[in-house]
Amino acid sequence: MPRHIVCLTFDFDTQAGFIARGMITPTPLSRGEFGAAVSGRILDFLKSRGIAATWFISGFTIESWPRECDAVVACSHEIAHHSWAHIPPATQSRDEEEADLVRANDAIARLSGRKARGYRSPSWDLSEHTVDLLLDQGFLYDSSMMGADYLPYRARRGDAAKLGEPFRFGEPTALIEMPISWSLDDFPHFEFMRTASTVLASMQPARPVMQSWLDEFLYMKKSVDWGVLTYTMHPYVIGRGYRMRALEELVDKLGDEGAVFMTMEAAAREAEPRLPRP
Ligand SMILES: [Zn+2]
Repeated sequence: MPRHIVCLTFDFDTQAGFIARGMITPTPLSRGEFGAAVSGRILDFLKSRGIAATWFISGFTIESWPRECDAVVACSHEIAHHSWAHIPPATQSRDEEEADLVRANDAIARLSGRKARGYRSPSWDLSEHTVDLLLDQGFLYDSSMMGADYLPYRARRGDAAKLGEPFRFGEPTALIEMPISWSLDDFPHFEFMRTASTVLASMQPARPVMQSWLDEFLYMKKSVDWGVLTYTMHPYVIGRGYRMRALEELVDKLGDEGAVFMTMEAAAREAEPRLPRP
């Protein structure tokens, strides 16, 4: 019996990403604040469709927006780890990365009553230590890598890439990788970002993007009997009215096409027996 799983995931950053980039003047901070202002409409929408989603919440957001985070917990969504301060692990020392992981997981435990089973790195850039640190801290899965589309796989430790030499594969670990893609992330499609060195001016209309996201699901249906498709969204991005309308239509079409919606933790647990033992 074919089974095609969809994970709706929300990275609840509020102002954390702007602060991590040094954008601490009032207007960029207010862009992050908008995510908190509209988190309730996303929760209402998920409730209206009976969907359990996964919210990757930074420790910063938990401690800055307690009522909004309590509301996510009250709706029984999975609370997963998204760092404390939204600094990409690739730019941290091992000790800094470990301290941030522990601090954020303590905040999650206080918020939800249990530590996170899943991790997603800020800005999708793991360090060479991340997989080991996640295993040490008892994580079930990571969702920051792009080595597959529909099939979760075992994250490896100790890969080695050196210019002019063949790739050396490290050993597969118990950590389950739930793959993602920038193409299935709302941010690069929709946002405008100006920094000293770059301008990102995407600003796509919402419905064509959602059509692409639907096509990705239809291709999964055609190509595998069992698979997981993960969409990554940010409340301050997807929460705009015209994008919410397009998301509502997408979710309803996915439902018509037989999508099984579940949290990433549930999808990872369903994937585990299908994967080779580490
Ligand atoms: Zn984020």
